[in-house]
Amino acid sequence: MAKITLDKVAHSYIANPKDESDYALRLIDNIWDDGGAYALLGPSGCGKTTLLNIISGLLTPSDGRVLFDGKDITNLPPEKRNIAQVFQFPVLYDTMTVFENLAFPLKNRGFNKEDIKERVLEVAKILDLTDSLNKKAARLSADAKQKISLGRGLVRKDVAAILFDEPLTVIDPHLKWQLRGKLKEVHEQSKLTFIYVTHDQVEALTFADKVIVMYEGAIVQIGTPQELFENPSHKFVGYFIGSPGMNFIPCTLDGNKAVVNGFGIELDDVTAALGKESTGDLELGIRPLYLEVHPEEIENSIPAQVKSIEDHGNYKIMTLNLAGNILRARLPEGKENISEKAWLRFPKSWIRLFANDKLLKRH
Ligand code: ADP
Ligand code: MG
Repeated sequence: MAKITLDKVAHSYIANPKDESDYALRLIDNIWDDGGAYALLGPSGCGKTTLLNIISGLLTPSDGRVLFDGKDITNLPPEKRNIAQVFQFPVLYDTMTVFENLAFPLKNRGFNKEDIKERVLEVAKILDLTDSLNKKAARLSADAKQKISLGRGLVRKDVAAILFDEPLTVIDPHLKWQLRGKLKEVHEQSKLTFIYVTHDQVEALTFADKVIVMYEGAIVQIGTPQELFENPSHKFVGYFIGSPGMNFIPCTLDGNKAVVNGFGIELDDVTAALGKESTGDLELGIRPLYLEVHPEEIENSIPAQVKSIEDHGNYKIMTLNLAGNILRARLPEGKENISEKAWLRFPKSWIRLFANDKLLKRH
């Protein structure tokens, strides 16, 4: 087990990088605690695999150092790093049985036969592979093969960390949900450091205690699912987390009010003070869940045009136009009587102000 330190790590796949855009990873300076369940979340191409491969040693960063428990391992090859890695697609020996595949990482490390058998049976049970242990891997479905790959990642208890690179991509949705739960269980029992890469927010938010959000080669926020939802530090996190993402509306300030289209929206004292100190372009952010929609004018409400309503079963998503800004509201049951015009209210405690894309917060 290990604490992982990324000391000013950056990486470019180009031999002589010139500016920032030549870097797949711009600058990562971070410490990940021993035993944490981390998810690396971000859109395709943002640098997740690059970062994972730098941790496992498949890639040497062009700048910076990687430390495990304070020891510099930047130049150690993968096999000397004591890390398990599970890839997007199955990596296994087709001619071996499931048992032999699962036993392989342990055999390699010189464990004795009894210990190997005990651990393989344990992992097979977790992954529902017990009945296939004697089958040749080649004869199994894609799902089952990927489960074996997961098993090979989980089988050693003496690793510094287990890295998962979008491991459930080839798994069907129902099984995906089950396996995610199992991985979480295994993490809780093993207390190993798990780093789980995904572009799927649901996967990240259900698996991890800490989610690391990446965007264009940089980490934009590390936080619990709740922190990311309530206080996204960057507009990108606001968009990317939540479904639909956070609403943003350009605004100005007038005393304790944010002004949108000539209407004042009351802010709490702390938020208003932050807005006043800021010199950047201000935007008001609010989650669709907290935007109140009313059929008639009420105190402190702002009129908006209803564009559409989508039914999602136990909730509806209303799309509105407020002075050219498209907003979404997540409606509870019983708001069906709103048709063309709606009156919006912004509860103070859920308003966030952003300046130049960044959340204004107290330091
Ligand atoms: P992610 O895993 O988040 O989808 P990657 O780490 O694979 O992102 O890629 C980050 C960026 O680096 C992308 O722009 C990608 O095209 C580029 N890249 C990835 N691997 C290579 C490589 N072997 N050679 C050159 N460019 C690469
Ligand atoms: Mg990737």
